[in-house]
Amino acid sequence: MVSKSEFVVVSNRLPVRRAGPKSSRWETSPGGLVSALTPVLRDRPSTWIGWDGTIGRAPRPFVHDGIRNDPVPLSQSEIETYYDGFSNRTIWPLYHDAVRSPEYHRHWWRPYVEVNRRFAERAAQRAARGGIVWVHDYQLQLVPGMLRQLRPDLRIGFFLHIPFPPPELFRQLPWRREILEGLLGADVVGFQTKAGIQNLSRLARHLLGSSGQSGELIHDRRRVQVGAFPISIDFERYSKRAADPESHARANELRTRLGQRHVLLGVDRLDYTKGIDTRLKAFRELLVSGRLGLDDAVFVQIGVPSRKRVDEYQQLTRSIHEIVGELNGEYGQVGLNAVEYFGRSFDFEDLVALYLAADVMIVTPLRDGMNLVAKEYIACRNDDTGVLVLSEFTGSARELRQALVVNPHDIDGLVGGIETALAMPTVEQKRRMRTLRRQVRQHDVYAWAQGFLDTLAE
Ligand code: UDP
Repeated sequence: MVSKSEFVVVSNRLPVRRAGPKSSRWETSPGGLVSALTPVLRDRPSTWIGWDGTIGRAPRPFVHDGIRNDPVPLSQSEIETYYDGFSNRTIWPLYHDAVRSPEYHRHWWRPYVEVNRRFAERAAQRAARGGIVWVHDYQLQLVPGMLRQLRPDLRIGFFLHIPFPPPELFRQLPWRREILEGLLGADVVGFQTKAGIQNLSRLARHLLGSSGQSGELIHDRRRVQVGAFPISIDFERYSKRAADPESHARANELRTRLGQRHVLLGVDRLDYTKGIDTRLKAFRELLVSGRLGLDDAVFVQIGVPSRKRVDEYQQLTRSIHEIVGELNGEYGQVGLNAVEYFGRSFDFEDLVALYLAADVMIVTPLRDGMNLVAKEYIACRNDDTGVLVLSEFTGSARELRQALVVNPHDIDGLVGGIETALAMPTVEQKRRMRTLRRQVRQHDVYAWAQGFLDTLAE
């Protein structure tokens, strides 16, 4: 019999992964969420419920690094329908402004309901009387409502890490009422930005007849707090690593190898929401028009492979490879590329060295819940130099006002933004970066978790 927990986190993935493909050893997955919640989880009897990454039977609950992990099983067909299908081909594109067409299939919806019920039942079993359950993200939007039915005594929080779309888009969803009912089962629903609050409130009023103000809805005779809690990073960890002489040595070596040119940097998962093609096209335009020469600047782009089973992602990978190939084919010279592209993941130390080596960070998503890369770049710039070019369609643009904010759909504006960034005098870089750093330092991921949990405890 597993003992009950006062605090339960529920997310699609557990905060651990196997050390190797068949390994029985676990290691902590990288990411701010795990580090932000670790102190809270160690503070009292807690459990993290999620999928461990194996197909079929789930391992028994286990403790890793002081955190109790409680794996939920997923079958091969559920991975294809609940995860690749409904989560990543219905909800993901719909919630990102439908920049790719969402697909609506009943044979994806049903497994989504079943898997959500499995997570809700597990949370209901594990949570102590009057305990707190914090549910995360778009794969589990039905869990708060299902859990409320099973355990009305619990405090339930839900945080959506991706954008929550405007009613005009959300209403496409054939199961729009079910999803809204699921979300409103929580006591606190958190979004990255205020837009999420407005969108949910309008939808709840029109489709479910909820009443109340935007920040506090009355649904089913219960009060539901709806708030904006912009997620962040562990500022000190990045800043400290960036101050390490080893990081400087690595950054200097990178700059030497890149030919002592201006370094423009993009760091993204290969996702169609990130606008990777757009920024490469803007860079190309600068080369074509002769406003930039091969000796002036190099574009370093990391594209971490993602959702490789999904067609749209395979197409995107091919198209990015094509653009990079063309650019280097047309403008590169022997030993000197215009774009240095890496289709793999970099670890923390290498990323920090890249952030340090980059004069300009380019973040151009068509839509992004937050974008942590932008904040990580800022945290690494201890000397206050460097310029952030940032899409206005990211959650982070709401906070990072001193970035060069651009519209990625406006190619001329983007080209101009990159040019301005490259020409920006050091004094102005520092003035902007100081403000950006203050913002991210004060609003780090620990403050984020505390802010959400305080609201939930009220
Ligand atoms: N990241 C990484 N290695 C890489 C590229 C990215 O560890 O090679 C990390 C990066 O440091 C950041 C996260 O992946 O913490 C990406 O988060 P973001 O919010 O920018 O985008 P998401 O992938 O969540 O859409």
